[in-house]
Formats: sequence, structure tokens, C-alpha cells
Amino acid sequence: MSQQELRPPIGKKIKLADYDPNFHDGLDKDNTKVETVLLQKRLKQLQSMLFADKSQALLIVLQAMDAGGKDGTIKHVFTGVNPQGVRVAGFKQPSDEELAHDFLWRIHQHVPEKGYIGIFNRSHYEDVLIVRVNNLVPKAVWEKRYDHINHFEKLLVDSGTRILKFYLHIDRDEQKERFEERLQRPDKNWKFSRGDLGVRKQWDEYMKAYETAIYRCHTDDAPWHIVPANRKWYRNYVVMKTIIETLEDMNLKYPDPEPDLDKIVIDS
Ligand code: ATP
Ligand code: MG
Repeated sequence: MSQQELRPPIGKKIKLADYDPNFHDGLDKDNTKVETVLLQKRLKQLQSMLFADKSQALLIVLQAMDAGGKDGTIKHVFTGVNPQGVRVAGFKQPSDEELAHDFLWRIHQHVPEKGYIGIFNRSHYEDVLIVRVNNLVPKAVWEKRYDHINHFEKLLVDSGTRILKFYLHIDRDEQKERFEERLQRPDKNWKFSRGDLGVRKQWDEYMKAYETAIYRCHTDDAPWHIVPANRKWYRNYVVMKTIIETLEDMNLKYPDPEPDLDKIVIDS
């Protein structure tokens, strides 16, 4: 595949099999890594402006199969950014209290306030992914959630939040390699969980669930990006570039200074 859309067309069904997880746009690894370091500086500047401006927020949603690179993306893309302005929320199996509420209750508490970048490591999309694949609630319940999600995201957008959603697309072979690495490397053993093997067996059902989630919840306001993620360096570069382009489009500015600053003399 010589070309590949990062943002699928809106309102059109997609097949993830049409997206190559190895795609890297013909870029060279070493050059791209250098470029990514330069982009880290730009991201740092923009985040500082977002924080000072305090008029908008950015929400980044990361979804992937196990070992898809959610943690690594967060680590690499946000290296160098002031941690004070970034909030990461990870969503695991819901607690009893969370399950006793609507599925967006626990999510809403973690959306970023103005001035902040919020990163979701897994998200409300789990409620139409794992929940759908394993029939954790009846179809009549999860089927309505796509609309609920769209309305929820619209509310956030209307309240001054930009939303970027990334599906980190790896293939089964890549997952196998990454699982094997988790088994072999003592510093990665802790990341291995037997439960992930069961999820791996359901790969095709997950792909279908992702295809529906991307198709049904892909809007101009809160777009999905299908990130080729077998190559970590390309994944980081693409996510970084997309975030920077979005922040640049937000017309951020430092607040106007108090008047007559040039006349102020600081006492010795
Ligand atoms: P890693 O990729 O490093 O393994 P992880 O995000 O998979 O990290 P885990 O603690 O291994 O972290 O897994 C969290 C689990 O919680 C996932 O299997 C995920 O599908 C599940 N989960 C998240 N949200 C929900 C939900 N709403 N309902 C049911 N399960 C959920
Ligand atoms: Mg896991």
C-alpha cells in the first residue's frame, strides 16, 4: 500500500484489514526519530500556551489491543511536556460502584478542564468493545451506546474541548512478538497477563467491534485516527504530528499582560 489515510472517511464503513499496520509512508526510521525530538519541543511550547490561555482543553483517547502501544505512546509523545498540565486516566474493569451508574459516569469525571491535556488510556469505547465482544450487557444496551458516546463527545466539544481519538493498529504477529518479549524480559514480565491470551483468541471479533465503533463514532468534531502501529517510531511520529496540528489549529494565545508592565520597578 503506497498511501494510507490516517483519518478514515466520515460516514463510511471501514475494514481494518484494508489498513496496513506496517505502513510508514516511506519514511526513514533514524530521520523520523530526529524529527520527533524536534516535534517534542513544539508540543512543549503549545502545551504551555494551552495552559496559560485556559480557554480550551484537549482530550486524547488511546485505544488498542493488548500490547498495542498505549503506554509507550504516552511515554514518548509527552516526554518533555510539563506534567502539571497533563492528566492521564486509565480505565480498567469498572468497580461495583461504577457499574451501578451509567457507563459514562466514571469517564466524565476525568475529562480535562480548560487549560489541560487529558489522556485516556482506554476509555468509554471499552463499553462497545470488550463489553460487546463478551456480551457483558445485552445488545439492546450496548447498541444505544454509540449514540450516547456521540452526544457525550458533542457536549465536550461544545464546552471547549477538542477531541482526538487514536486506534493504534497492530497485527496479530506483532502482538505475538510483544507478548513473547514480555515473557522473556524480566523488566517486562509484570506486563504479561494470562487473561490477554483469551482476548487474543477473540481478535476477529474485536476487529469487528473496532470497525463499528470507528464508523459510528467518527465525526469532524471528534475524529478517529487509525495509526499504523507495528513500527513504534512511526506511531509516535504520527500521533505527535496530529496533536501538534490540532493545537496549532486552536488559535491559542498567551493572555494579555496587565497594563503598563514596562513601568513597574521591583523594589530592591
Ligand atoms: P496493557 O496493554 O499494558 O496490558 P491494559 O490497559 O490492558 O494494559 P490491564 O489492567 O491489563 O491494562 O487491563 C484492563 C482491562 O480492563 C482490559 O482488559 C479492558 O478491556 C478492561 N476494561 C476497561 N474498561 C472496561 C469496561 N468498561 N468493561 C469491562 N472491562 C473493561
Ligand atoms: Mg492488558
